[in-house]
Amino acid sequence: MKGRKLLMIPGPVEFDPAVMRAMGSPTTSHIAPNFIEEFGQALERMRTVFLCAKGQPFVVAGSGTLAMDLAGANLTEPGDAALVVNTGYFGDRFGALLERYGAHVDHVRAEVGDAPALEEVERALRARPYKLVTITQVDTSTGVLADVAGIARLAREAGALVIVDGVCSVAGEELRMDDWGIDVALTASQKAIAVPPGLALVMAGPRAMEAWRRRKTPVLNYYADWSNWLPIMEAYEARKPAYFGTPAVNLVAALNVSLGQILAEGMEERFARHRKLSAACKAGIEALGLQQLPVAGKRANTMTAPYYPEGVDASVLGKIGEFGVILAGGLHPACRAKYFRIGHMGPNHAGDIVATLAAIERGLAAVGYRFEPGAGVAAAQRVFLEA
Ligand SMILES: *Cc1c(COP(=O)(O)O)cnc(C)c1O
Repeated sequence: MKGRKLLMIPGPVEFDPAVMRAMGSPTTSHIAPNFIEEFGQALERMRTVFLCAKGQPFVVAGSGTLAMDLAGANLTEPGDAALVVNTGYFGDRFGALLERYGAHVDHVRAEVGDAPALEEVERALRARPYKLVTITQVDTSTGVLADVAGIARLAREAGALVIVDGVCSVAGEELRMDDWGIDVALTASQKAIAVPPGLALVMAGPRAMEAWRRRKTPVLNYYADWSNWLPIMEAYEARKPAYFGTPAVNLVAALNVSLGQILAEGMEERFARHRKLSAACKAGIEALGLQQLPVAGKRANTMTAPYYPEGVDASVLGKIGEFGVILAGGLHPACRAKYFRIGHMGPNHAGDIVATLAAIERGLAAVGYRFEPGAGVAAAQRVFLEA
């Protein structure tokens, strides 16, 4: 580890050295020609990453929650009805956010670790008309992967705008805005996009932009108002300088480097790599006798959420950290102390999964859990060795 530990949490993730070099290069003016080119290129590249050919990208300094705010503030007017397909903590957050802008919010929920069945979403959509439906593609609190394509189809049929919180999924999980009829997808730099924390990224499709243009009331958030940001995004894409709020110059430069790497890998290859890393991690966890929080068939590919085995608690994470790998504790209030979280997204490769499982084995051994040494590592290796 050469003195630094492997960061395997659901964001921030491991970053590529070229991305970190962009972070550390001299900061130029935000209207310098090199920066205008980098920003313009990053905006263009986002359309391919989000698979949204006619989308309007927004890149604004802030965290993923600001990306949620950009979507919520611009698309909600007081009295609008919104349906949150809730698979955990971040569904609750989206509901609270939309209520703040005056929406009437209903949630369709499931047991912790599960996602609502499509029939339940359909029933909710039949009960009343909704302007917006939000879906958390991967709820980072539970590791549940929602059926975005299926829910989006139902929501579209019901005439609602579809907003996807893709903070733990964009550029990792398969997400096809155009093919699946998604109106807004959003993320943050520090997750599968693989840039240090600090950028909110939003892609708004034509129907979302149209709904925003037809608003009758002002956007109730000054910083997030697309009226302020749309001219800026359009200007940089046309390779012209513009100013509303100073862009995070180094982060945008780093974003452009990372997006270039993502496109060089290819979206289909990237989805497949994340599926492989996830399958290997989960096979290793299972081989060690650990159960998982999300139910089978609804597990994210960008993270794994194992329960601690019998007799083991969160103190094992400290041990695993001593063996060189940083993991995250539980987040969902209903069962926070019972599980932990492993992120595997962005530039992670097979070696990271093997190293992580090795550290987990040593940590478990250190707290007295009994298992066949190497069983987790071997199970992962078998997945990687499959053709
Ligand atoms: C991380 C995350 C967020 C919040 O992002 P911040 O950058 O922490 O504000 C929202 N939704 C999901 C699904 C996330 O994983």
